[in-house]
Amino acid sequence: MALDTAIVIDGKAVAARVRADVAAQVRGLASASWRTPGLATILIGDDPASAVYVAAKRRACAEVGIQSFHHALPGDVTRAEVLALVDRLNADADVSGILCQLPVPAHLDGAEITNRIAPDKDVDGLTTVSAGRLALGLPGLRPCTPAGVMVLLAEAGVELRGAVAVVLGRSNLFGKPMGQMLLAADATVIASHSRTVDLPSVCLQADVLIAAVGRPGMVTADWVKPGATVVDVGINRTGGGLVGDVDFDRVKHVAGAITPVPGGVGPMTIACLLRNTLLAAGADGVSRRSA
Ligand code: NAP
Repeated sequence: MALDTAIVIDGKAVAARVRADVAAQVRGLASASWRTPGLATILIGDDPASAVYVAAKRRACAEVGIQSFHHALPGDVTRAEVLALVDRLNADADVSGILCQLPVPAHLDGAEITNRIAPDKDVDGLTTVSAGRLALGLPGLRPCTPAGVMVLLAEAGVELRGAVAVVLGRSNLFGKPMGQMLLAADATVIASHSRTVDLPSVCLQADVLIAAVGRPGMVTADWVKPGATVVDVGINRTGGGLVGDVDFDRVKHVAGAITPVPGGVGPMTIACLLRNTLLAAGADGVSRRSA
């Protein structure tokens, strides 16, 4: 039986609240004469999309009062030069968080550069140590997009304890950490991927269905349990514009709540990057706290 229309979870509004909260905390630090949090960004080469992403992150920092330290390196920079820069930033007390925009040029190893970042400054939450902390349930900085999904679910009042959560996609960037965060919130988690047999039946079990596959409109209405919460992480550029992995127009008549694309998960990623930078600054005295 189809429900009327799902509640649309407004990621833009939630992200604005997270940013406002970060801004207020940064102002509070300034009045307490605490060091202003600082984010160092490393951009290697001249990939236009990467330049746009880094510019957006720097703008977002400026809006909430976080300092940004930008390092634009030429596309032919050597491995040793990049690693030496990361080492300098690791040792710089004004730098609370560091990110290296991926992908990097082919002669460099993005994983090696990421892993050189000190785990307590790893605001993207992508180092091996951060992944290990998450897997072991230890405090640490969490990857921004799944952290953003957790904030959206909390704001939408979605009960995770005991819920069946199906995560579609198992990337290191999103699917795996998402599954672990849901597990930590006491959901019963099913990780699914391209080798999963009968995906529609698996997805139909979900009280919370999170799609991150990069396939436009793959999740159709008949994959969704009536009343389920559907979170669409996909960002696919098509001739018809930006679309998610969920067939929003049909699924909204079955789901209880759903995130749109754009305006759902997307805005949460940068908001959580700002929040991670604040946490990494140790502003509240618990810098190792989980996000
Ligand atoms: P990814 O590394 O390409 O991983 C895609 C995952 O989807 C893989 O686990 C893959 O399975 C699975 N998959 C692909 N085709 C499938 C199919 N037909 N059936 C079942 N599973 C399938 O991608 P990602 O980095 O996780 O990103 C996924 C999507 O989220 C992309 O659209 C990306 O743009 C978006 N994204 C958005 C944000 C944001 O800020 N909103 C952040 C990150 C990602 P295998 O492992 O078996 O290959």
